Amino acid sequence: MTYMTKQNTVFSWLVRHKDIREKTFLKTNIRHIPRMICLHTERSNEIRGLPIVHHRKYVCDLPPNHRFPMGKFPRVLHFLLKDQVITDKQVCVPNLASEELLGCVHTKEYLDDFINGKIEEKKQKRTGFPWSEGIVRRCRYETEYPAFFRTWTHQGGTVLAAELALQRGLACSTAGGTHHAFPGFGAGFCLLNDLAVAAKHWMDNSTSRRKVLIVDLDVHQGDGTAFIFQEEPNVFTFSVHCGKNFPVRKQQSDLDVSVEDGMEDKEYLETVQTHLPWLLESFRPDLVLYDAGVDPHWEDELGRLRLTDQGMYQRDLYVIDTVVKKGIPIATVIGGGYSRNIDRLAIRHSIVHRAATKVWKQQGL
Ligand SMILES: [Zn+2]
Repeated sequence: MTYMTKQNTVFSWLVRHKDIREKTFLKTNIRHIPRMICLHTERSNEIRGLPIVHHRKYVCDLPPNHRFPMGKFPRVLHFLLKDQVITDKQVCVPNLASEELLGCVHTKEYLDDFINGKIEEKKQKRTGFPWSEGIVRRCRYETEYPAFFRTWTHQGGTVLAAELALQRGLACSTAGGTHHAFPGFGAGFCLLNDLAVAAKHWMDNSTSRRKVLIVDLDVHQGDGTAFIFQEEPNVFTFSVHCGKNFPVRKQQSDLDVSVEDGMEDKEYLETVQTHLPWLLESFRPDLVLYDAGVDPHWEDELGRLRLTDQGMYQRDLYVIDTVVKKGIPIATVIGGGYSRNIDRLAIRHSIVHRAATKVWKQQGL
């Protein structure tokens, strides 16, 4: 296992930004925020329980036998409802992210080309997706925002999950985690960087600049996110990934933990447990965005690690519980996961929502 940081040691980074931390740290008292209204299908409802962000247009058509398991998104919600982990009263439906919002991370030229179908074929190949209006719509919903929040009508995001987390302490999306997207191009099945847009948006939209910790436990390095925030002291990027996996050319996160092929549950959990507590204590984020990718699973077609379902559950439970117990809002996205068996994959992705539900109940949120 190797550790990499921008300044060689994380401690030097933390010392350098200590003044910023102390000025901007806000203690969040989530118990005194009133219940909020959210949208389910066409009508407004009060959310009861853990907020779950989902849109039926998270899916779009792909060519036959395409490797990306597009069908997983509605199946995640299906299994959560079927297994009575959640009720439909918990589901929040987003609107399309606006170009204005996406522009806080992505270049105008790229957004213009992407939205209007002007991405050249070579660049489309790099993303792994052929361009279509459907894929644009899907990605913009994934970077969602709800119509209810009139104050923010031009904004979007895994932003919604983050907003709900800031209001309620914890919220989960049924999509998101497209961490390979850069400001000016897409890559590795990622076209818009929802994590970066949410972090940037919620960092900027507060009087004292919120500090955001991105915990990226997808098996692939969050290279796009690391690049976007390489000079940003108020966003800390923490990535645990398999060193030999995609992308070949890694970027530098604030903390990279590169693990060897074949790592199993115990060692993986210990790796996360080694770093998360001191990161929370030292950086003191006002918001955590958690990419709970399930591609470290032993059955995953693109991962190279050997985590079990139980190992993934323990990981998600540990991360969410540790953050919530510190009183820090946390929003989760599902990240990567690859299998031709869509239902097995969807159930695997729903592990994070199951873990979040347990924390929600235990902590009395
Ligand atoms: Zn991945």
